[in-house]
Amino acid sequence: MAILYHTTGIILAKHDWREADRFYSLLTKQDGKVEMIGRGAQKTLAKLAPHLEFCAEAEFLVVRGRTYQTIAGVERVRTFPGIYSDFSKMLLAHQALALVDGGVREGQADQILYERVVHWLECLNKAPSCGPERAAFLLAGFALRLLEQLGYRPELIKCLSCRVEIQEGLFRWHTLKGGVVCEKCTIQDAEQWFSARPISDESLKLVRLALHGTFSDLLRVRIPGHTLPAFHEVVESLMYTHFPTIPVVSLRGICTMC
Ligand SMILES: [Zn+2]
Repeated sequence: MAILYHTTGIILAKHDWREADRFYSLLTKQDGKVEMIGRGAQKTLAKLAPHLEFCAEAEFLVVRGRTYQTIAGVERVRTFPGIYSDFSKMLLAHQALALVDGGVREGQADQILYERVVHWLECLNKAPSCGPERAAFLLAGFALRLLEQLGYRPELIKCLSCRVEIQEGLFRWHTLKGGVVCEKCTIQDAEQWFSARPISDESLKLVRLALHGTFSDLLRVRIPGHTLPAFHEVVESLMYTHFPTIPVVSLRGICTMC
C-alpha cells in the first residue's frame, strides 16, 4: 500500500531516468539521503520542476510505494540567491552537494549533517565571490567536515601509533590509517608504516585550519601556493579512501594553481 508523507530536504543530484522520469537524490532532515522519482508525466514534472531547484531547501510531499518513492508535490522553504547569482559559488555549491551525494549512504538519518550542509550553504550565500584557489580550499574544508561527520575524522595532532603529540618536521602522513605518525614510530615499525609519506608543517597546518576554522577563517587565511599540492593530495586521498563512491570532484581540477 502506498503511504503519503512530508519531508524537508535539499536536492543533491538528479538524472534522467526512463523516457520521461527523473531520479532525484535528496538529503532530508528526517531520513538522511533518499532517492525519489519525479514522475514522468512531462506535464507533472513540468509543474513541479520550478520548485525542484538545485541548492534550495524544500518541503516534499512523497508517495512511498513498494519499490520507489515518488515526489507528488514540492514547496520551497529556503533559497540562497547569493549563490545563484554568482557562477563560481554556484559551481562550488554543486560540487559540495555532489560530495554529499557520493559520500553518504542511503537511509542513514543524520540531522547534524543536514544542519551542517544548510549552514555551509548559508555561509556561501553571504560570502564574496571567490577565485579558484579559494574555492578549492573552501571545498576541501567542506570535504574534511563531511568526513568527520561520517566518522572518518583525520588525526592531525597525535601520532596514530604512540599517541604522543607530533613535533614540527618529525612526522609523516598515512592516508589509509587517516592521520599523522611520528618519525620515531615509522623507524621502530618500518613495515607497518612503510607507506607513510612526508608532508610539510605548513601543509598540515592548512589541513588543520580547513577542518577546524570557521567559514570566515577559510575565506581570510593566506594560502601559500607551494603548500597546496600536498594539501589537496591529503584531502583527496581521504575522500577516495573513505567515500563509498569515488567523488567526481577534484580539488586539483578546480584549482588552477596546482
Ligand atoms: Zn609515535
